[in-house]
Amino acid sequence: MTKVNLGIIGGGQLGSLLAISAKKLNIKTTIFCDDFNAPAKNYCDNFIFGDYKDIKIIESFVNKVDIVTYEFENIPFETLNKINSKKKVFPKPEVNKIIQNRLYEKNFINELDIKTTNYKFINNKSEIIESKNLIPGLLKTCTLGYDGKGQYKLNSIKDINDLEIDFNKEYILEKFIDLKKEISVIITRFKKDNYEIYEPIENIHEDQILRTSKIPAEIDIKLKDKSKKWAVHISEKLDYIGTMCVEFFIDKKDNLYVNEIAPRVHNSGHLTINTHNISQFENHLRAVCGLEKLTTQKLFNAVMHNLIGDDILKYKDKKAKDNEFFFDYKKKDIKPKRKMGHVTKIIK
Ligand code: AMP
Repeated sequence: MTKVNLGIIGGGQLGSLLAISAKKLNIKTTIFCDDFNAPAKNYCDNFIFGDYKDIKIIESFVNKVDIVTYEFENIPFETLNKINSKKKVFPKPEVNKIIQNRLYEKNFINELDIKTTNYKFINNKSEIIESKNLIPGLLKTCTLGYDGKGQYKLNSIKDINDLEIDFNKEYILEKFIDLKKEISVIITRFKKDNYEIYEPIENIHEDQILRTSKIPAEIDIKLKDKSKKWAVHISEKLDYIGTMCVEFFIDKKDNLYVNEIAPRVHNSGHLTINTHNISQFENHLRAVCGLEKLTTQKLFNAVMHNLIGDDILKYKDKKAKDNEFFFDYKKKDIKPKRKMGHVTKIIK
């Protein structure tokens, strides 16, 4: 069989870890990224630098690859659609269109009778004033927000006068939840009713950035089952191909809510590289490249710590213990709040 050349849009740590995993499966990778110094440049077979809207670059990318996937959701829908008319894109572009907009995403989830936080579309200041029932709440941009970017915490209605909110953008106002825990469920769907699912992962955030992920999640078995059932339902309704992640909130009364869906491999699933016989990355590659689905099994429990900003310096020259696995994303510059690497500690 000729070697598959997989195109990956985006060259961050997720693209890097996909490219590393591809080597084991004998899949060639071509990464298309708008950052000349993208970390994944260190691991892929071919690298194409350019703007995600540049028709010429898109064409040269399409001509090099057999199948296309992506490592982040904020890719122009037109670009994905254009690529999909020539080479298959997985997950399909329509999935991305829903998920890259918080309003469409929440509407879609609620139509499935799956609970999210209460929310309302917001276009101007007076609409916030009319939505007092959602305060304390979080005002989030409908598009392009991540790791707490594009979010405003409103503790009381007075806060809108102190914050400089750019109303040229569209928002949702979301009721603030008194959180007990946050979990995520990672699932890889191969075709109808055919998937591999990982057990729920418990996540701890600081300043809205993921800090720590661990398995097993210390939650009730009923919540474990319910979160997995919802993740399966969402992936079936999206007719999803590949790995996706559903992030959940659990409140102090043990109510479960979907926070958001990531149509890609996910940071909380990095531990699967060391805890499972098949990682979220390998499963994604198997699903999008049409390879065999193998039964995914857990080998160990583990805790994964993200190394944010300067944290990485402590690990660069440190000898890892035999249960520690350190990954350096090889980002050119260290910046505060920037994910620079991670370390997974296996619990034997
Ligand atoms: P997001 O970018 O929407 O995933 O938010 C990042 C993090 O902010 C979440 O993982 C939570 O820790 C926190 N957060 C976001 N929305 C809410 C909410 N409605 N209530 C409580 N915490 C939230």
